Formats: sequence, structure tokens, C-alpha cells
Amino acid sequence: MKRILITGGAGFVGSHLCERLLNEGNEVICLDNYFTGSKKNIEHLMDNKYFELVRHDVINPYMIEVDEIYNMACPASPVHYQYNPIKTIKTSVMGAINMLGLAKRVDAKILQASTSEVYGDPAVHPQPETYWGNVNPIGLRSCYDEGKRCAETLFMDYHIQNEVKIKIIRIFNTYGPNMNPNDGRVVSNFIVQALKGEDITIFGEGTQTRSFQYVDDLVEGTIRMMNSRDGFVGPVNIGNPTEFTMLELAEKIIKLTNSKSKLIHLPLPQDDPLQRKPIIDLAKKELNGWEPKVQLEEGLIKTIGYFDTLLQDNK
Ligand code: NAD
Ligand code: UDP
Repeated sequence: MKRILITGGAGFVGSHLCERLLNEGNEVICLDNYFTGSKKNIEHLMDNKYFELVRHDVINPYMIEVDEIYNMACPASPVHYQYNPIKTIKTSVMGAINMLGLAKRVDAKILQASTSEVYGDPAVHPQPETYWGNVNPIGLRSCYDEGKRCAETLFMDYHIQNEVKIKIIRIFNTYGPNMNPNDGRVVSNFIVQALKGEDITIFGEGTQTRSFQYVDDLVEGTIRMMNSRDGFVGPVNIGNPTEFTMLELAEKIIKLTNSKSKLIHLPLPQDDPLQRKPIIDLAKKELNGWEPKVQLEEGLIKTIGYFDTLLQDNK
């Protein structure tokens, strides 16, 4: 049995990781400040004697004896990470320093949840891990993008200078149950709008693309990365390479929810990437043939079911 710390464990992805790692027979400590996460996401785990919940902010040091750390703490939706940009960059940078310091002291292996946003508005398409990115350092998204880029630098430097055992994954747009209905990301926005019969808000023309990954595929890739061979640290792309425009996504969601919602166009936010699609050859090679199993329609049906129940319960 391993003792595992998951920062941001009450969030969307973190809650799935907590559940999966507990089910695999580990002891799990979920640390969260509840900025975007919620106790509701993990309340079904509370009775498990191998599960512990800690209210803590990663910008402050935290001491505990653990074998592994999954560093997931950071708001991921543009609406939330832009709400308090200074706090966002502190969370990525000081959170990384505090968790790497902890890993160094207790000799734990530590995985960083980095992001496709390190590629910015990519001039290379699709994106391999070797691409250095096209990030505006002073735009609205910089607090997130540059914070995550700096965290990757810190991870590599602790590895090289202090031999900390690190792993870095670059996560591409992921969706699924436990997303916050007010999260502001496109999949949750469109599904909630479609279920409520409200207008579907397309930012810009809707021709920008994203490649959407179902959360179970991400959790599988993340755990395989933590357990990958010594000496492989990444960064490695974890995403689903099937690419869609936002118009195509909206149409699929309208069809699957049988909704009467209409599409409306709102201004495209500053620095919104035009396209995004991962190359996942490295993940396939290093993570035992890992590749996404859940295609968009199947994942959307599960996610729509989740939001439908949530909205009924909140009526
Ligand atoms: P989320 O917002 O649902 O979860 C983030 C969690 O971190 C929340 O529970 C939040 O309360 C917690 N948190 C935020 N700031 C904190 C702080 N200072 N101290 C302690 N806890 C804090 O987002 P998510 O989609 O679950 O993302 C999880 C991780 O994966 C994030 O690091 C994110 O950057 C990364 N990521 C996610 C995606 C995606 O599409 N979901 C894509 C790329 C990267
Ligand atoms: N988007 C949209 N309508 C919304 C929310 C988002 O058209 O209600 C667009 C957004 O402009 C972006 C894409 O959907 O081009 C993905 O946005 P999201 O915030 O989910 O993730 P990110 O931009 O960080 O990839």
C-alpha cells in the first residue's frame, strides 16, 4: 500500500484520481483549498478509512510523509484562473516549490499536471512535446500559461539539481462528470445551456478547434505516467487527438440532448488559441501503448447524464 498525496483532489480531475487510487488499495490524502473544487466531488469517499481530506493552500508549505504526490492544484478554467491572476500564478509557482521541497525531503515521486497551454496559440500543428510554444507573457491567459511553464522548469531543475523523482504530463482539454456546472469551460457550458434550453454561447466564429479527452482516459494515462520507467520524466502529452471545431461540438451536444437551444455568437476572448491537437506517439511508446479509449460521443453521453441529474437535484 502506497501513501499518496493529491493536491487539488476535490477538483474535477483530482476527485477521479482520488477514487481510482483508493480503489487500487492505496492510502489517499486529498489536499484542497476549495477554490474551484467541492466536497461534493469526494463525499462518497469519506467513509473509506484510507481516505483523508485536508483543507490547505499549496502556496503555503505542507509537511507529511508520503510515497507519491500528484500535483493537480490550480484552477483550470479561463474564467476561474483569470478571476485572481496573481493567485493563479502563485498557485502554480509557489505550489510547485512547496510540493517539490516536500518530495525532496521525504524522497517521494512527484507528478506535475501541466497543460497544453504551455504551447500557447500554437504555430506548429499538431503539437509534439518538442515544440516550445507561442505564449503571450503579458496577456489575460499568461497567469496560467506562464505559471505552468515555470512549474515545468522548477520540476526539471529539482530533478537535475536535487535528483527529485519527477514526472510531467501535459494535459489537453478534458471533460467528464464532476466538472463544476459554473466552471466556464466549453463542454460544461454547452451541456448546461443545452439542458436548460438556453442559448449556446459560441465565442467568435466557432471555427477554433480543440481535442477533447474523456476523464477516464486522462486518469489512466496519469497513473501510467507515475508508474513509468525510472529515467522517463516527460513532459508527455496526454490527450485525445481527434479534433473538433466549437461549432461541431455545439451541434453534437444539441443533438445528444435533443435541445431546442439556439447558437449565439459572443466575442472571442483575447489570445484564445485557434487550434489544438496533441501528438501522442511518446505516450503510446512510454506508457505501455496508452491511448484514449472513449470517443467524444460516448463521453458526452456520460457527461450529459451527470449534468442532467445534477440539474434535477438542484431544482
Ligand atoms: P479544477 O478547477 O476542477 O480543479 C482544481 C482543484 O485545485 C480544485 O479542487 C481547486 O479548489 C484546487 N486548488 C486551486 N488552487 C489551489 C490552491 N492554491 N491550493 C490548494 N488547492 C487549490 O480543475 P481540473 O480540470 O480538475 O484540473 C486539475 C489540474 O489539471 C490543474 O492543475 C489543471 O491546470 C490541469 N489541467 C486540466 C485540464 C482539463 O482540461 N481539465 C487541462 C490541462 C491541465
Ligand atoms: N468557448 C465557447 N463558448 C463558451 C466557452 C468556451 O465558444 O461558452 C470556446 C473558447 O473560446 C475556446 C474553446 O471554447 O476557443 C475552449 O474553451 P475552454 O475555456 O473550455 O478551454 P481552453 O480555451 O482553455 O482550451
